[in-house]
Amino acid sequence: MRRIGIMGGTFDPIHYGHLIAAEEVRQLFSLEKVIFIPAKIPPHKVGVQMSDPEDRYMMVFLATLDNPYFEVSRIEIEREGISYSVDTVKQLRKDLDEEVEMFFITGMDIVLDLQSWKSPKELLSLCRFIAVTRSGYSLSLLKERLPQEFLEKIDVVEIPSPPISSTEIRNRVKVGKSIRYLVPSLVENYIKRRRLYLI
Ligand code: ATP
Ligand code: MG
Repeated sequence: MRRIGIMGGTFDPIHYGHLIAAEEVRQLFSLEKVIFIPAKIPPHKVGVQMSDPEDRYMMVFLATLDNPYFEVSRIEIEREGISYSVDTVKQLRKDLDEEVEMFFITGMDIVLDLQSWKSPKELLSLCRFIAVTRSGYSLSLLKERLPQEFLEKIDVVEIPSPPISSTEIRNRVKVGKSIRYLVPSLVENYIKRRRLYLI
């Protein structure tokens, strides 16, 4: 059966933390590819100011260009309304039109709130969850937070993830600090050209 990874996010902007996580999981789970899916409106960020979806999409496109195993999808950008993962996975299954095993890659911070997602049980029945370690979020916290029936369907993977976040990158740009080595240079140039994160 085909094994495909999907990595959703706001990607405002995409950074090396995302890329390293995807590449590690791809290798560990022998995935054919990882599809990055920028959210149009992330459910946990409704009402929060963020960059235009097209800018976020473009940065993911540029960041993934040199990896033949990475793709970027417009599935959530093209869909109206809040971008619920369960809707995306169902739509992807339909579009792929064949038997595939899907691996939903997230950071530990995101998976902690899985119970508040739309239809989490249905989502867990449609794909396997891979939670990658992220600094500040421990495995014990996950075990405290989620019921056993959820934990059984989540694999936790320790990765050499740099302690980077998009929030920190936006803050650095705002105060004129360098973001070199935190994001691919094509993304750095795009941020400069489009004058993102200055206010
Ligand atoms: P923000 O600070 O704006 O929330 P972020 O860095 O958390 O941005 P998101 O787009 O929110 O990036 O995250 C998309 C996915 O990538 C989430 O599952 C998140 O947990 C994961 N992720 C983000 N940064 C890292 C990192 N440094 N290491 C591992 N996973 C990460
Ligand atoms: Mg985040």
